[in-house]
Amino acid sequence: MKKITRVALVGGTHGNELSGIYLLKKWRDHNQFQRWPQLELSQTIANPRACEQSVRYIETDLNREFALDALQDDERVGYEQLLAKKLNRQFGPRGKSPIELMIDLHNTTSNMGACLMLLRKDAFNIGLGAYVKANMPEAVVFFQDELPEEKKRFLISVAQQGVTVEVGPQPNSVLQQETLELMERMTQHILDFVVCYNEGSLTSLPADFEAFQYTEDLVLPTDEQGQRLGMVAKRLEQRDFQPIEPGEVVMETFDGTPITWQGNYTAYPLFINEAAYHKSHAAMTLSRRVMIRCADYL
Ligand SMILES: [Zn+2]
Repeated sequence: MKKITRVALVGGTHGNELSGIYLLKKWRDHNQFQRWPQLELSQTIANPRACEQSVRYIETDLNREFALDALQDDERVGYEQLLAKKLNRQFGPRGKSPIELMIDLHNTTSNMGACLMLLRKDAFNIGLGAYVKANMPEAVVFFQDELPEEKKRFLISVAQQGVTVEVGPQPNSVLQQETLELMERMTQHILDFVVCYNEGSLTSLPADFEAFQYTEDLVLPTDEQGQRLGMVAKRLEQRDFQPIEPGEVVMETFDGTPITWQGNYTAYPLFINEAAYHKSHAAMTLSRRVMIRCADYL
């Protein structure tokens, strides 16, 4: 087992998600990084210009610019496209990164609570999910491991391992104490886990834990001009990770026509009405609830 020592903490990948930016500042100002003397912790604001302007990004979403072919494409010279290449030089290069773990701190406007988003089901990620869920039962563990490695476009893909801490609901450009506290606790648990993982002292992990597995995105209906023809049904508002059965109403058009969930499984929605998806018109992401048996992976 490879030890994880070099850990990069990143905030401000999206400039209007304030919890990560201020959590790093708080820890810096109060020497909190010393709590983990076994680790080499670094802290970075990924998109300082977007943070200054308190916008998600200047030109394009930085957290979608890290696919391998995009990083190697010389014609991609937009602001975030160049910034992604710079971050890839700083932390990577992707595939050869000395950074053993990157923790990227995000907020969502959706009511997702403290959500740990994981990209792989290997011993490290499964152990981390089990540890966080055991120590913070209200946390949600979400797996989005359906994409092949080279297609992954997140900043964390540059490092050897990467996880996203996604906490909400918090409006963009707003700093709420409860949200910051949730992010702080989850990030502390992650770092505590890394120390235990390195020491091989994970014997107290639960046998299994609840998680959610990405399945698909639901998009709002639009007309030829790209204007919305409907919205998320009010009964789903704030109900992230609450089950939706096949046939249940998930959206409604402005002429009052209900749109039902046409799948054949019980879906658990997240990112319901997330503000950042105003361009993509995504209504929500869907997932399945799964029980992860640690022994299958550890
Ligand atoms: Zn974000």
